[in-house]
Amino acid sequence: MPIWMGHLAEREGEWEKAAGHGFLACLESVEAALWLIAGGRQAQALVQFQSAVEVALKAFLNRIDPTLAVEAGSTDGRTIKFKKAVGKVADRLPWVAGWTGRLGDLFDLRNEVAHRGSNGATEGRYAECIATVAFPFLGEFLRQKPHELSLENAMTPDIRRELQVADKVCEKLCQGSLPVGPYVLYTVGLATRYAWVDWPRPEHRPGVLSSRNDDFELAEQARKYLPAAWGDEVVENHLCAICCGVNLFVHVRHVAEPERRLIPLAARCPKCGLEIDDEDRYLAEHHVRPFPPEVVDRYFKDLPR
Ligand SMILES: [Zn+2]
Repeated sequence: MPIWMGHLAEREGEWEKAAGHGFLACLESVEAALWLIAGGRQAQALVQFQSAVEVALKAFLNRIDPTLAVEAGSTDGRTIKFKKAVGKVADRLPWVAGWTGRLGDLFDLRNEVAHRGSNGATEGRYAECIATVAFPFLGEFLRQKPHELSLENAMTPDIRRELQVADKVCEKLCQGSLPVGPYVLYTVGLATRYAWVDWPRPEHRPGVLSSRNDDFELAEQARKYLPAAWGDEVVENHLCAICCGVNLFVHVRHVAEPERRLIPLAARCPKCGLEIDDEDRYLAEHHVRPFPPEVVDRYFKDLPR
């Protein structure tokens, strides 16, 4: 049973509530976007996320007055353009005005993809725009009265966690003036696949151990292929945030001051196949679950003097 099953009722309740408030198309676009991320189609995921934002804005206007979202003089019910919808919503919700520039960027980027296809040179921008604009904006917008929806509850807890991880990684990269790479959404895709797809589990692949109980043997195999550069700076047997396997290998950097800390740099999970490399800056740091204090103590105790 997937680990998020306990939240299924919560999720379904949120979807029903959304449908009642006219936001079904918004949630469906977000869900489609998550599948596109899981399949490595981030540019197309951006198109879906922009669509989710647009229908949400128009659903909001429509509830206030059904003529607000319709183009003036339109005889066939054609709705207003995206940027106009943002302006009209901002007239009623002043905080939305602070997002106007970023939502405009989302729309322009979406247009580039929709009309000319994706561009390898700007791949990181799709991921960044999803993680730092579309997802956080939608979350905040859907929380508004009178609909008071939770985008977070509408997905599984693990997927929402990884979207927040991606947002934090982008923030760290931005602070360091480093470019954002598509890798920031890697764990979002992994969490989506893990939540909904039960095949192929690593142990079912040909040539891989067949017994489900042989997790530790699987870990032994994985240990042999850890990058040599990790050396002894490895924490073993940690909990994987994707599959809850208990054999996660984490490459760490230790910091003694002002307090003893282990900063994750990279990670490998023999059970679900998670692979975060050292080049994926800040992803392991934000994705890997915190180490228990006794693990940190033991690591420092074992350090060569
Ligand atoms: Zn795992």
